[in-house]
Amino acid sequence: MSNKNYETIIGLEIHIQLKTKTGLFSSVSNDSWQAKPNSLTNPVELGLPGALPAPNKTAIEWTQRLGRSLNCRLNTKSKFDRKNYFYPDLPRGYQLSQYDEPFCEDGFLDIKDPSNHTQTKRIHITRIHLEEDSGKSMHKDGKTYLDFNKAGTPLVELVTEPDFRSPDEASVFSKMIQEAVRILDISDADMEKGQMRLEANVSVRKLGETELPNYRVELKNINSFKFMRDAINYEVERQIKALESGEELFQETRGWMEKEQKTVLQRSKEEAHDYRYFPEPDIPPFDFDDDYFARVLKDLPVMPWKKEEDLLNRGVREDYAHLIAYDSAKYATFENLLEKSELAFEELVKVVVNTKDQDSAEAEIERINSKQSSTVGDDALKQAVEKSINDNPNAVDDFKNGKETAIKFLIGQVMRETKGQADAQQAEEMLVNKLS
Ligand code: ADP
Ligand code: MG
Repeated sequence: MSNKNYETIIGLEIHIQLKTKTGLFSSVSNDSWQAKPNSLTNPVELGLPGALPAPNKTAIEWTQRLGRSLNCRLNTKSKFDRKNYFYPDLPRGYQLSQYDEPFCEDGFLDIKDPSNHTQTKRIHITRIHLEEDSGKSMHKDGKTYLDFNKAGTPLVELVTEPDFRSPDEASVFSKMIQEAVRILDISDADMEKGQMRLEANVSVRKLGETELPNYRVELKNINSFKFMRDAINYEVERQIKALESGEELFQETRGWMEKEQKTVLQRSKEEAHDYRYFPEPDIPPFDFDDDYFARVLKDLPVMPWKKEEDLLNRGVREDYAHLIAYDSAKYATFENLLEKSELAFEELVKVVVNTKDQDSAEAEIERINSKQSSTVGDDALKQAVEKSINDNPNAVDDFKNGKETAIKFLIGQVMRETKGQADAQQAEEMLVNKLS
């Protein structure tokens, strides 16, 4: 049996750090990138006795704006819960997260099938919740160092249904999420800085089966779209090989080792955590009303996939529509110039695609316009060509005798006659036609 007899099942968990000014539950600065280790800590994040968490309103609003942009239901009742586990970079012994009442649930996003662009496929989003990031452990010379700067950074977690059937689909979806948070201006989602982190859950089943496999392998430490594809591809091969040799697969967590290009076991099901979630007693539950949502969801930016659809409907060709829709600056240039410029629609699209910003687009349009308006009419050109031929018999003879440069002189006469308004190439064509 080969890979062709199996189908890949993938579900994603995506973490995104929000770029709020302060932490999720404290007033300490959230700008921890390159800050001196432990220079941005706070009693709340360090779990000091008596320190009380105060939720960051902006972080909650941004999560809800993301949820609405991804077609989620925004829960009116919501709360934070304690997720209990021990880890050195989690000094409280629990993480503040959300359990059964996340801010956003049941969303979806339609992705373009990477192998067939005209087809779309709906990916269901299970939930989007908000939690605090943990600190960072660094292992060096047999010692472990802890930096709590990152602890308390607002972290959005987005969980999808196991709807993906290929790493490419997962990749397309993840890039759309990255675009969405950038356009909402809630995160820079720079994967190299850990601002966006991917986890892929992977299993395989025989083609034709409809039940989900009773196991899934969770792939962690993925910090680029390419690594995600590589890790999933490796994992699919490994799982098929195991199943083919009669092995049973279990739920486990594996890490992607980029250097070795393979996944390695980190945790198996036997050690799976029981987090004993319970509601955070120091933060009252939320009850959002219509007025609240109306205020928070005001002026939502248009998502790039909506712009793309709109451009396609207006007749923009597929590659151009994608390019303009996913580049905010180009899209703005396009919208602005559509009102101002009198260029034909298709020509305007081409100018926007081929220029780097609005200024250069406007310059290009001016160039095109001046060329059009200054070009002399056909009759005037014809007259000038005839005059050039009649007035310069020597040059005409030279040309007829094979002296190609003579044509340049004749073109020059046409340009003089038309005060430089003629199109030189057109004049040359006409002259050559007449003389041959
Ligand atoms: P749990 O409650 O144990 O965390 P979930 O149902 O929440 O499990 O699933 C977590 C992630 O795993 C989701 O992204 C989901 O889509 C994915 N997932 C669930 N079952 C499978 C499966 N059989 N194969 C691949 N991914 C799966
Ligand atoms: Mg889960």
